Amino acid sequence: MKWRKVPAGERVDRTVFGQGQERLEHAIHYGLFACPFCGEGFRLQWTDFYNHLHVRGGILDEEAEKELDLFRPLREDIWESFLDFSCAGCGAPFRLFYEGLEVSMGQWEFRLSEMVEPVRRAKAGR
Ligand SMILES: [Zn+2]
Repeated sequence: MKWRKVPAGERVDRTVFGQGQERLEHAIHYGLFACPFCGEGFRLQWTDFYNHLHVRGGILDEEAEKELDLFRPLREDIWESFLDFSCAGCGAPFRLFYEGLEVSMGQWEFRLSEMVEPVRRAKAGR
C-alpha cells in the first residue's frame, strides 16, 4: 500500500487534548475525525490517547503495521505514541501520531501531530 502523511489538523478538528483544561471547564473535549475517502466520522477524546500511550499496534493487519512502522517511525526524542484505526465506513487504515506531555504531576496533555493514511482507498475499483 502507498502511504502519505498529512497534518493531523486536516483530519481531526481538534489537535490538543488537555486534561487540566477539561477539568477547569467541566467539559469533555471531542475531536471529530472525518475520513477523506468516504466522509465517515467518529469522535476522539482524551481517554483514547491516554489509553493508547503504551499500547501500540494490534489493530490493523500485520502487513499494514509493518509498512507504517517503516514509512513513519515513531520519534524517540519526544514522548510520542500513535493510535491505529480503520474507518468504519470504507475500511481504510489510519495511524494518528501524537505527543504526550505531562504538564503537571499525573496530568497529561496530548498534541496530535501527523496522520498517515493510504494515498488511495484500499479497495480500488468500486
Ligand atoms: Zn472511510
